[in-house]
Amino acid sequence: MTTTALITGANKGIGYETARALAARGITVLVGARDPGRGAAAVAKLRAEGADAAEVQLDVTDAASIATAAAHIDERFGALDILVNNAGIAGSFGAPSQTDLAVLREVYETNVFGVVAVTNAMLPLLRRAPAARIVNVSSEVGSIAMMMDRDGPMWQAAAVPYPSAKTALTMVTAMYAKELWDTPIKVNAANPGYCATDFNAHSGFRTAEQGAEVSVHLATLPADGPTGQHWGYRWGATDGAEYGIVAW
Ligand code: NAP
Repeated sequence: MTTTALITGANKGIGYETARALAARGITVLVGARDPGRGAAAVAKLRAEGADAAEVQLDVTDAASIATAAAHIDERFGALDILVNNAGIAGSFGAPSQTDLAVLREVYETNVFGVVAVTNAMLPLLRRAPAARIVNVSSEVGSIAMMMDRDGPMWQAAAVPYPSAKTALTMVTAMYAKELWDTPIKVNAANPGYCATDFNAHSGFRTAEQGAEVSVHLATLPADGPTGQHWGYRWGATDGAEYGIVAW
């Protein structure tokens, strides 16, 4: 039986590597991309490596695009096993007192509202799979505990749009986990860690492949795996555990 995974924002960066790694496990990957040309290029690269990959045009801020994508997956597969809500934007970082409300709205549209819209559109398909997994790509930047740790790596960062949107996304994750608690569906937030991608002008100290490993882990959890957690890379952890639960 075919196992299918839809990854949003999969034409590059961590999303692309997530598609690549899931495909290497024999999963059919649906490469979500808002730009058809970029999506087609990513699919061509994946197929050249032997992946079973197909493009799904999907702008997470566009209701019509989301509905068309869901209808397409329904028609072609009738169910969806894995949804990785990976698409995200950084907006601009600056002092909270200088927050540009237009940027704040734009970041929430993609990083929060987009996830809720895509998840709700795909849930009927996910419910039809035997044991679906939903992974919301969040961030340690959204961890209030880490942000407020004066001795931690996040203390120097202070901005409203991106950090607060990722905090919201983590709560969104927890709320879906509660609604789906008594089903086989698991919903978790992923923290890839600081990865070198276009997102941060390649300043991250981890690779996109390493970041993708976190999403793949949560996308392929066994039946006794957790739900409602924020899990992934633990930057600055002093107990030696590189991966684990990320503080809320
Ligand atoms: P990236 O290389 O910039 O890739 C972001 C992807 O999201 C691109 O495919 C982009 O498409 C897509 N996207 C943006 N807006 C979209 C929209 N409205 N609809 C559909 N797709 C959209 O960034 P990345 O580093 O791989 O980030 C992936 C995720 O990891 C994000 O959620 C980010 O917040 C999270 N994250 C990243 C880091 C890090 O250090 N890199 C750390 C923690 C969390 P286009 O190519 O069309 O722009």
